[in-house]
Amino acid sequence: MGIGDRFAQQGKAQLDAIKKASELGLEITPVWNKSFREHQIVKSEPTSTRKEADDAVKALGWNGQYFVDADHVGLKNVDFFIDSSDFFTLDVADFIGEKADGAKIDKFIESYKKYIGEMSIPGISDTFKITEQRLEQIANKFLFAIDEAAKIYKHISRKKDSGSFVVEVSMDETDEPQTPVEMLFILAMISDAGIPAQTIAPKFTGRFNKGVDYVGAIDQFKKEFEQDIAVIQFAIREFSMQDNLKLSVHSGSDKFSIYKPMGEIIRKMDAGLHLKTAGTTWLEELIGLAEGNQDGQALVKEVYRNAYNRYDELCGPYAAVIDIDPRKLPSPDEVDSWSGESYAAALRHDQDNPGFNPHFRQLLHVGYKVAAEMGDRYLNAVRANSEIVSKNVTENIFERHIKRLFL
Ligand SMILES: [Zn+2]
Repeated sequence: MGIGDRFAQQGKAQLDAIKKASELGLEITPVWNKSFREHQIVKSEPTSTRKEADDAVKALGWNGQYFVDADHVGLKNVDFFIDSSDFFTLDVADFIGEKADGAKIDKFIESYKKYIGEMSIPGISDTFKITEQRLEQIANKFLFAIDEAAKIYKHISRKKDSGSFVVEVSMDETDEPQTPVEMLFILAMISDAGIPAQTIAPKFTGRFNKGVDYVGAIDQFKKEFEQDIAVIQFAIREFSMQDNLKLSVHSGSDKFSIYKPMGEIIRKMDAGLHLKTAGTTWLEELIGLAEGNQDGQALVKEVYRNAYNRYDELCGPYAAVIDIDPRKLPSPDEVDSWSGESYAAALRHDQDNPGFNPHFRQLLHVGYKVAAEMGDRYLNAVRANSEIVSKNVTENIFERHIKRLFL
């Protein structure tokens, strides 16, 4: 389970949730993920994430595995993470559609000709028609991108022992979802390229907006999710891949309406899952501050005013993964008149609370730059209210995520 943390303050509170789950017999491995973009905006270094994770593990006496994820890296920025990370999410979405050279494409088609015809995959009732032309289309679309993933993997392997880190291949930040057949042959390419991937993050149909619920047809998602898992299980045997290869769901936090079907499917198919959350821990810091002392309440209102006034700048980089209706945002003056409880109620992802406002929540989610610019003033407020903040952080991960998905 990926547990992002913008400001690297909540490692212990996050791990506490995972520990609670382990006391109930759930086997969850915490992965502290942070992307290059997040580090740039916060002006932090991966060493701070490493320290946060190590400190939390030590303080809580955690004996299980844990990882520090270099989230969404490419050749351009992977070096920034090499020393501190032992989990690398190789993001090759930008290379989808670029064409590999002809000889490589021919070789791929030659290797997989045996699948031409009517194909069935255990666990999927539909059959798939594979033609030479279809193989060529898939190679044209994805082979170059997987070659790129191989380059990043080899680059990391030159600097780290190949067994000492986990590899994820991500293709989620693209426009079109991958079909089960595409997924199958993407896995074949990953295997051919010698990438020991343990997780793969496809793009699903429907919207995975940051910090809010899934938007889309739930039945369609269920079908895709189940078929992808069946394809992975088939590929593990067929292409001799890592036997713990699993599906990774990005921006997976807060997708409450699909947790029940996801949980049912992974239990039915005895499959693992990587759920990468969307850095929403920082929103729990804001909630804790709103419920905390006077200074905390004033500070969260100031954060909102600033975020509201810088709407375009803050939302721009995240346009593809948020849906905010500006007309549904309260004015900063109105928010100034709110109690701390009203602020917390508008922000906390409790769909049964009439005060909850997903537009307010999404704007604040992308507004972490404002808090980053406040520097120590923000961090000191979080520390001064640490008890109520930690309570919110742990509760969010345990009650709203782990319980709903895994229990
Ligand atoms: Zn992602």
